[in-house]
Amino acid sequence: MEIKITKTTVSRQRPDPNNIPFGTYFSDHMFLMNYDKGVGWHDARIVPYGPLTLEPSAMVLHYAQEVFEGMKAYRTADGHIQLFRPLENIRRMARSCEKLCVPQIPEEDYLQAIKALVEVDADWVPSAPDTSLYIRPYVIATDPKLGVHASYTYIFGIITCPVGSYYPEGINPVRIAIESREVRAVRGGTGFAKCGGNYAASLHASELAEKQGFSQVLWLDGVEQKYIEEVGSMNVMFKLNGEIVTPSLESGSVLPGVTRKSCIHLLQEWGYEVQERNISIAELIEAAGSGALEEAWGSGTAAVVSPIGEIFYQGRDYTINGGKIGPVTQKLYDTLTGIQWGKTPDPYGWIEPVC
Ligand SMILES: *Cc1c(COP(=O)(O)O)cnc(C)c1O
Repeated sequence: MEIKITKTTVSRQRPDPNNIPFGTYFSDHMFLMNYDKGVGWHDARIVPYGPLTLEPSAMVLHYAQEVFEGMKAYRTADGHIQLFRPLENIRRMARSCEKLCVPQIPEEDYLQAIKALVEVDADWVPSAPDTSLYIRPYVIATDPKLGVHASYTYIFGIITCPVGSYYPEGINPVRIAIESREVRAVRGGTGFAKCGGNYAASLHASELAEKQGFSQVLWLDGVEQKYIEEVGSMNVMFKLNGEIVTPSLESGSVLPGVTRKSCIHLLQEWGYEVQERNISIAELIEAAGSGALEEAWGSGTAAVVSPIGEIFYQGRDYTINGGKIGPVTQKLYDTLTGIQWGKTPDPYGWIEPVC
C-alpha cells in the first residue's frame, strides 16, 4: 500500500512528560484512508492531526456503525520502539467489522499504517518508565443517509497519544460493585466486538457505581444476570483454590482481550490450571466468604492488570487478599510489562519492532 505523507509545520502542544493525562494530548499526525463501495479502501495518507469533515447525516452519528481498537507502542531502554501482538488487535478488529457490517482492512495494510504513523511521530513515544504511545484505530460509517442500512462509505483513521504510567502511585487494588440490574452485552449481541455502542451502553451503570465510591462495575451476563462477564472495560480473572478461572468467550458477550489471552498463555506455562468457564456470582461470593478466592484482577491494554481488592454485593463488602495485590497478579504485571518495554526477553514472538 502506498501511503502519502504530509508533515505538519507546527508541532502540537506536548504534555508534561512526568504527568501525562490519559487520552488528552494527541500527537502531530494521523492516518486516514477512505472506503467506497465498488472501489475498496483508497487514499491511504498520513496528515497533520485535525478535525474530520462529516455531514451531520453521517450514519455513524445516528446508528453507531463504528468499530475501534486500542494498543500501545513502547520505547525500549536502547531507544527503539516496539508493538505488542499487533496482529491480535488487527484480527480482532476484522471480527468486529464483520459483526458491524463494516468492510475489513487487509492485515498487511493495517500493520503498515500503524508502523508508518508511529514512525512519523516517533518523537511522541515517551521514554519515562511505564509510559507509552497509545494507538487508537477506528472505522466510522460516513454515508449521508438516515435509512437504516450498512453504509457504502467509511473512514479508517488512526490517532495516537502519549500516555503516562497507569500506576503513578504504585499498584493499588480497586473496589468494585457487582451490577445486578444493568447489563453491558447479551448473547447474540455485540459484546465480543470492540464498538463504541458497547461503551455508550455501559456509561449509566458506571456513573452510578462511581457516585457510590466504586471504581468499576462487575458485569453479569445479560440473560440470567447470574454469571460473571467482565470488570469495567477489562476482562476478569480469579485465583480460586490455586486454580485460575476466567469467564469463557463462548457466549459471545465477553470481549476477547489480547491481555487476557497473554495472561492465560503465561499462567499455563507457569503450571497453573486455567479454566475458561461460567462463574456464577453465587460461586464467587461463596469463595470470597470462605477464603477460597485468593486473587482477583482485571486485564486490559491500558492497565495491563488491575487487582481487585474488594467487591460489594447485596450490602456486603468482601475483601480479597487483605486488599493487597496478590503474587500471581504481580507476576503477570511484571512479566507482561517486562516483555512490552523490552526489559525481559520475549520467547513468544509477541514483540513487533517498529524502528
Ligand atoms: C478492549 C477491551 C478489553 C481488553 O482487551 P485488551 O485487548 O486486553 O486491551 C476488555 N473488555 C472490553 C469491554 C474491552 O473493550
